[in-house]
Amino acid sequence: MIGVFGGTFDPIHVGHVAIANEVAGGFKMDQVLFVPNSRSPLRQTPIATGQDRSEMCRLATRENPIFSVSTVEIDRDGPSYAIDTIEILREAYPDDELALIAGMDIVDELLEWRDSSRLLENTLMIVVERPGFDEAKLRDVARELGAEDRILPHRTTPLDISSTEIRRRIKAGLAYRHLLHDHVYQYIVRHGLYRDR
Ligand code: ATP
Repeated sequence: MIGVFGGTFDPIHVGHVAIANEVAGGFKMDQVLFVPNSRSPLRQTPIATGQDRSEMCRLATRENPIFSVSTVEIDRDGPSYAIDTIEILREAYPDDELALIAGMDIVDELLEWRDSSRLLENTLMIVVERPGFDEAKLRDVARELGAEDRILPHRTTPLDISSTEIRRRIKAGLAYRHLLHDHVYQYIVRHGLYRDR
């Protein structure tokens, strides 16, 4: 099984890497692809460039041999739709089962995703808990999409960390190094990322 972990990763933080580790272990995944998006149709435009966000993903994941970074969404300009990404990855990995990995906050968006029912016909979605988000709502959404057996809630160590909070701390001059892989921290400092926004 190949995990497909999409996100803005603006920047990637220790919560992301912890989730990927726990899900990969729990589902005995052969690989996890981190897929930074170029622009989410439902969210604000990322602050850092696709190149910076991909590079930070590489730095945070390079010590784990089953992790890699796919630039399939960054390379394709315009909004990133999971359905397109999964179709491309299915061609690249015809013999593997693909499983999307996401945090519980996707419950607020999933019904608006393009072709979400079709997406979930052939793809598992493993949804990890996130402090402040409700599992009951996820079950309702799964029912609405007819995908109760394809959307699997998965318990991981709850980590109340977000990229938004990290960017806020950087801008405010607060401590944030402990929330990132150290190479990502160094990259942010070296490139002066997130200081103004
Ligand atoms: P932002 O604060 O900018 O929205 P984020 O921290 O939510 O960023 P994303 O890049 O949007 O990070 O996250 C990618 C995926 O990882 C999403 O599915 C999100 O739900 C999940 N995720 C991120 N942080 C956590 C966390 N601490 N616990 C559980 N899931 C998380």
